[in-house]
Amino acid sequence: MSTIVSISTAPGIGGIGIVRMSGKDCFEILDKIFEPKVKNKEAKIKGYTMKYGHIVENGNIIDEVLVSYFKEPKSYTTENMCEINSHGGNIVLRKILEICLKNGAELAEPGEFTKRAFLNGRIDLLQAESVIDIIEAKSEREAKTGIKQLEGGISKKIAEIKQNILDVMVNIEVSIDYPEYDVEDVTNNQILEMLKQVEEKLLKLEKSFDDGKIIKEGIKTAILGKPNAGKSSLLNNILKEERAIVTEFEGTTRDAIEEFVTIKGLPLKLIDTAGIRQAKDEVEKIGIAKSKEIAKDADLILAIFDSTKELSEEDFEILELIKNKKAIILLNKVDLQPILTEQNSKLKEINCPIISISATQDIGIEELYKEIEKLFNLNEINLDQDIVITNVRHKNLISKAIENVEKTKETIKNGMPLDVIAIFIKDMLEDLGQITGETVSEDIINEIFSKFCLGK
Ligand code: GDP
Repeated sequence: MSTIVSISTAPGIGGIGIVRMSGKDCFEILDKIFEPKVKNKEAKIKGYTMKYGHIVENGNIIDEVLVSYFKEPKSYTTENMCEINSHGGNIVLRKILEICLKNGAELAEPGEFTKRAFLNGRIDLLQAESVIDIIEAKSEREAKTGIKQLEGGISKKIAEIKQNILDVMVNIEVSIDYPEYDVEDVTNNQILEMLKQVEEKLLKLEKSFDDGKIIKEGIKTAILGKPNAGKSSLLNNILKEERAIVTEFEGTTRDAIEEFVTIKGLPLKLIDTAGIRQAKDEVEKIGIAKSKEIAKDADLILAIFDSTKELSEEDFEILELIKNKKAIILLNKVDLQPILTEQNSKLKEINCPIISISATQDIGIEELYKEIEKLFNLNEINLDQDIVITNVRHKNLISKAIENVEKTKETIKNGMPLDVIAIFIKDMLEDLGQITGETVSEDIINEIFSKFCLGK
């Protein structure tokens, strides 16, 4: 394969920057552009070493650098690779990139290093996809799930399921190829037993997607409450900075804004609506219709009430909205003289946790966080042991495999011959193979890697 090069660090000013090169001519190109301080030409290049020296062009020093050497097959791509650590900043990095290009390297496409790691068999497709997840992770938990996936957790599980299927598939093929051995009945039972086991495992994986989705996308959290209940104060408290836009002017954005925060390791996506941000503006006040829409879509509702006032008509409507939803009732402004308390029977009826808080005086907020943690008992998902699917492509293929399990069962029930049953079982194997990339089309591979950033 050709030798590719790319700037791997993010654009902008930084202490150091890295230009990465991979391919068969990597070290030859490096030889032409890099002058190590200590020249020991006769010594062979060793992997996992670093050399100090200068990048030079026509006798001019371009930068003082450290170069790491990775010798095939022990590198990210499994090819000969080097990483030139130069000073950060666009000018020097671009110059080094340009010199590499002039000396025979080609500009890498987004994700091409990882794509090579996949094509060269060091990682499977699923692991390659986890690299994007790690880079784009918005919370510690998400990064952790990605790393686990990169380590091969899900790949192993998929391999195990495939092996279960293959064990039986061998018998099926024997029965098809040597029909004189009348083993059909036994095989049918074996198939059904295998299908049961496989389906159980697949269903568990499919279900883990719900947790995975939360880990990846955050808990969609909406703050509902009538005007002046304290929605923006709470939002500000959670965001810990005065960022809410309060504007006297008309025509500012009325769309929902989303803010990410991590609370107790849980990623929360706060759905902030124009109604909250601009509650001071009568026109923009969040109507009950809009609240309904938000409530429907939210994973968690924080229903906030002004504890210095009796429950109003609007409050009752909000209570109606949170029935049967994951919600927490917040009685705000306890620092004043509350008349609405946790003992209120109308509130207790709802069967949600009730917490007294003061959004401005920072009372009860920690309790609120603990309650959120309790509600989304993600701690129960032991990320070190359980396997969590976070990628929708994987989830869809698992669902498809489950459908094929059902179809196989159906064909057996209908007394179809083994060669027909075998078709569906092969489809199951194909679905699973697409997850790890063994049976996936080039288009899909290209699409997956196009989502990568440059230099990865
Ligand atoms: P929103 O309309 O629901 O967004 O309510 P705001 O957050 O704008 O709050 C309305 C008013 O109540 C503001 O003057 C806040 O300063 C005040 N407020 C909000 N929370 C508290 C609180 O916990 N204690 C006190 N004393 N005042 C609060």
